[in-house]
Amino acid sequence: MRLNFHRFDLRLRHTFTISRSSRDVVPVVLVEFEKDGITAYGEASPNARYGETPESVAEFLSELDLDKLSDPFRLESINDYLDSLGGHNASARAAIDIAMHDWIGRKLAIPLYRFFGADRDRAPLSTFTIGIDTPEVVTRKVREAANYPVLKIKVGLANDEEIIKAVRDATDKPLRVDANEGWKSRDEALDRILWLEKQNVELIEQPMPASMIDDVRWLRERVHIPIVADEAVGSLFDIAELSTAYDGINIKIQKNGGLLKARKMVYTARAHGMKIMLGCMIESSVGITAAAQLSPLVDWADLDGNVLISNDPFTGARNEDGKLILSDSPGLGVAPAA
Ligand code: MG
Repeated sequence: MRLNFHRFDLRLRHTFTISRSSRDVVPVVLVEFEKDGITAYGEASPNARYGETPESVAEFLSELDLDKLSDPFRLESINDYLDSLGGHNASARAAIDIAMHDWIGRKLAIPLYRFFGADRDRAPLSTFTIGIDTPEVVTRKVREAANYPVLKIKVGLANDEEIIKAVRDATDKPLRVDANEGWKSRDEALDRILWLEKQNVELIEQPMPASMIDDVRWLRERVHIPIVADEAVGSLFDIAELSTAYDGINIKIQKNGGLLKARKMVYTARAHGMKIMLGCMIESSVGITAAAQLSPLVDWADLDGNVLISNDPFTGARNEDGKLILSDSPGLGVAPAA
C-alpha cells in the first residue's frame, strides 16, 4: 500500500475573475493510492476562501496514518479519521475520499455511479461559467460557449448590469447567476435580483455574504427565482438552518470534503425540501469526474472546472455541449492523459 501526491498547476484558458479574486493558474494536489495492485486517484483543489493552500494539503496528506486507509470499503471510519485530524482541510479530505471511492469502484469493477445506485441518463446538463470581465471579453466568451445550452455568469462587482447586457447581446439562452457574496446589503441584492429576473435568469447563487442568513431570508420573500447557498454551506449540519432562508444548496466535493459527505448532503437537503446544485472548483478531470458520478442525483450541475483549463493531466467524464458523459470504466473512470 502506498500514497503519493504532488502539486500540479492547472492553467486557465482565460483569466478567471469572480467577486473576490482573479487567477490564471490554479495549483491542485493530485493523489495516487495503490493497494493490492489497484491504483486509484484523487485530487485536492485548495481554496483560500476556506483557509487552504497547496502547502496545507501537502502537510495534511504527509501526516496521515496509512494503516487507517488499509480497507477503503470502510468509508465511514476513514472519513471519521480524516475529520478527527481537524483544521480547514476539506479539499485534502476530499482527495483521500475520492481515491478511496475510485479504489472501491475499480475493485468491484463498476463505475461509481452504479455503486451510488444512480442512473447516468438522469445527469442534468452542466452550465458553462463566464467569469467577470469587460463587456467585450464577456461577449466573446459567450460566443465561444455557443455549444453550451445553459451559462453561469459571475457577477458581484460594480459592473453587473453591463456584464449581463453584454451576455444578452450575444445570446438569449437561460442564465444562472452567481454573486459569490458580492452584494453587501439586502437592498442592493433585492434591486439586482429583481432586475435579473427580467433577463431570463433561472436562479441566483450566494447573493450576500455567507453570514447574512437573516438578510437572505428577507430577500427570499421578495424575489421570484430560487436562491442557492454556496459559500454558506460548510457541511451537512448547516442544511437545516439554511433551508429556512435558501431554496437550494450548492454541494462541492472539494468544499464539503468528499463524495461520502456529498451524498449525505444530497439526502439531507432533499429531506428539507431543497433543490441541489453540484458545483466545482477549478479542478482537473479527476475531481470533475468524481462529481459527475454523483450528478444524476441532483437538479443542477455546474461541473465545468476541467473545460476551463488548457493542461488537464487526466481524462475522464466528457463534457459534450454541456452534457456530462459517464463511461462504463470502473471507479471514477479517469486515466492519466497520454
Ligand atoms: Mg458559487
